[in-house]
Amino acid sequence: AKEAGRNQLTIFSPLLQDKALERALLVQDLRQAQDKDELILFYQPIIDSEKRIKGVEALLRWVHPIHGMVSPEKFIPLAEENGLIVPIGELVLEMACKQLAKWQHDDIQKTLTMAVNISVRQLNQPNFVEMVKRVVARTGIHASSLTLEITESIFQRDVNSAITKINSLREEGIKFSLDDFGTGYSSLTYLKQLPIDYLKIDKSFVNDILEDKSSAAIAVAIIALAKSLELKIVAEGIEDHQQLDWLLANGCDFFQGYLFSRPLHPNNLQLTLETKA
Ligand code: C2E
Ligand code: CA
Ligand code: CA
Ligand code: CA
Repeated sequence: AKEAGRNQLTIFSPLLQDKALERALLVQDLRQAQDKDELILFYQPIIDSEKRIKGVEALLRWVHPIHGMVSPEKFIPLAEENGLIVPIGELVLEMACKQLAKWQHDDIQKTLTMAVNISVRQLNQPNFVEMVKRVVARTGIHASSLTLEITESIFQRDVNSAITKINSLREEGIKFSLDDFGTGYSSLTYLKQLPIDYLKIDKSFVNDILEDKSSAAIAVAIIALAKSLELKIVAEGIEDHQQLDWLLANGCDFFQGYLFSRPLHPNNLQLTLETKA
């Protein structure tokens, strides 16, 4: 509709129609994807400064019968728009906790942590806290090994109600991480109030850290801010050794990126793996 206001002709653009059609078809398929077991989780290791695997982040994959692997960048925004993210998000939490319970039970790594992405739309559900507690209880994981990753978009809505929910889950031992920090609507005032444990430096900053002075300056500022709020810092999107060295030297606590591992199917994730770095 915004596009149409700027340029009437776009209404008749076949390209636009195809896009709309494609979206509609994708939404239709997505409604059924859960029942067909087409939604699976990949896991990406999170590394500590001694280069051991501290935990993993669960990342959703949609194995579509025709389109193949559909990127979450494509279908998560759709699912957020129409509310499908609520049942899908619950399924994700359930699958991730089940996998963690299995790894913890198999004694592969008892202290392994699991990070799960939570959309603001999920957090805003009135029964969100109960839902999370129920999944934790049902799967039998240690609540303290679960981290929920939220984004700055929670600041746009009722931040007080979000804080209340975060507090009651933190009382159970669940950890919270603020994802994509610096890319969205940031309010330093809110950040101070937010009862969280980790702050994730977005991969867009990490990507430019060596070439672009302002990205490096922003990263330095984010790290200083996180330290003053006593948050642990996770850097994501690390692809080479120079980036890692810079982030280590500047005081980041945890590290994630293709340098260590891409997100992997659980069968391919070697938790005992000695990292290449
Ligand atoms: P995110 O939470 O910021 O996840 C990090 C993204 O960066 C992942 O993309 C990951 O595969 C990618 N990545 C990791 N290391 C590197 C690297 O070294 N270089 C580069 N270029 N990329 C790297 P992915 O898996 O495509 O997920 C994209 C986004 O989709 C996620 O961003 C998250 O916002 C969303 N998402 C994924 N799974 C879920 C989910 O279960 N629930 C919700 N609500 N959102 C999800
Ligand atoms: Ca994340
Ligand atoms: Ca992120
Ligand atoms: Ca992101």
